[in-house]
Amino acid sequence: MMIRAYDDIINMLNAEQFTQLKDTVIIYGVSTDSRNIKQGSLFIPIVGDHFDGHLFVEEAFRKGATAALWQEDHGSPPENIPIIIVEDTLLALQQLAKQYKKQVDVRVIAITGSNGKTTTKDMIASILSTTYKVHKTDGNYNNQIGLPLTLLQMKEDTQFAVLEMGMSGREEIDLLSKLAEPEIAIITNIGEAHLLQLGSREEIARAKLEIINGLKQEGLFIYPGDEPLLKNISELGYHLPPSTKQIRFGKKKSNEIYPTFIEMEQEGVYFGINNSQPKDYYIPLIGKHNVMNATAAIAVSQYLDIKKEDIINGLSQLQISSMRTQKLRSNSGFVLINDAYNSSPNALKAAIDMLEELRGYEHKIIVLGDMLELGENEKEMHRDIGRRLDPQRIDYVFTYGNLAKEAAIEALNHYSIDHVKSFEDKEKLLKEILTVVTENDVILIKGSRGMKLEDVVGELKNR
Ligand code: ATP
Ligand code: MG
Repeated sequence: MMIRAYDDIINMLNAEQFTQLKDTVIIYGVSTDSRNIKQGSLFIPIVGDHFDGHLFVEEAFRKGATAALWQEDHGSPPENIPIIIVEDTLLALQQLAKQYKKQVDVRVIAITGSNGKTTTKDMIASILSTTYKVHKTDGNYNNQIGLPLTLLQMKEDTQFAVLEMGMSGREEIDLLSKLAEPEIAIITNIGEAHLLQLGSREEIARAKLEIINGLKQEGLFIYPGDEPLLKNISELGYHLPPSTKQIRFGKKKSNEIYPTFIEMEQEGVYFGINNSQPKDYYIPLIGKHNVMNATAAIAVSQYLDIKKEDIINGLSQLQISSMRTQKLRSNSGFVLINDAYNSSPNALKAAIDMLEELRGYEHKIIVLGDMLELGENEKEMHRDIGRRLDPQRIDYVFTYGNLAKEAAIEALNHYSIDHVKSFEDKEKLLKEILTVVTENDVILIKGSRGMKLEDVVGELKNR
């Protein structure tokens, strides 16, 4: 984490008004949450829609903060504690992170995209850690507050920072990319998440492409070559300087890097890359979509000249931050694939492919919750999911919510009536699942965050 003298911090912020201190005081990192103050830290009160951090400055000191920032339009700060006055505390947090990043002289790899950011980030960090000192975004700290905090948490001797950049609208990735100035920028894919806020897939692509706005001169841009929207980014109003290098990854062999020989096992996947041997690489995660994430991670690693054996080891020892697509065994023996954390069309299609390819189960059951925030075509997107479900490969379809019901209605065109049911009530859903499931079955559960399907996962786990 950032360890600096109080006076250094004043310089990094270019601040003009601050409490003069007689002695040298050292600051250990920053805190923005008064419930969770790091001893000796600088408390930065953030003004949010629902809360104002300035109300907690005194509490932060009681809990061990050493100094605090104060936004100038917020009246007079408490006395007798070291305060640095700034115009805007959020901008100050970002500026501090930017300065610290420059001082550490860390090389930055930035990742955005609709799905797979956290997984790809964890894969890259796992591989680079075989060779370098690496710092990565913790879990999902990927926004205008989380990203600067991530940078401020890195150690002074960090060589690479692997940063996830998230967004829900335009200009957000722009800010994050200009702050972090990556030398490698990655777009994992363009999906439909946040379609409601952005209006079209083109606009989603533009929002993700903002990641190149902060890309360093001579930097590298890695993106999915099979995505039509990214074939000609000048049509979307973006221009890469000729000095920027590009690597496309994807299924097609026209990409610079592509996976081959994908072979699913119970707990992971074997695959090859371009002309490698068929089973050279292994990831301890299921699903072809994770092979795509790994392909992007391998592209980065090869570019940075990481040895092949280190790439292989880094991937096989992968630890995922947040357990997405988590496999659990219930007390009575059936397997649950918990993907209740979130859902959007792309991610759901990937999850359906994954379920279809699993071997060794008697029945496969899918529990679908609504995909939220998709905008005006939301019903059609759910129907599309219903159409692609195949009764030969997935035995039961249970939906939860008003939108997911559209998928059920569509599935009824090709499923028998007792294998598809839709619910508005979790108790009834649970009861129905329990009447059909046997100990040799697998159940995939996926829905948007707001549907809270983890309740159902929790109940099923204990059966
Ligand atoms: P968030 O926006 O919530 O931070 P994320 O982009 O970080 O998400 P992950 O946490 O890596 O994504 O993965 C979340 C889910 O998205 C996975 O469980 C899986 O269902 C799906 N997913 C991951 N990678 C891909 C991919 N390459 N293509 C499609 N779906 C994917
Ligand atoms: Mg994430």
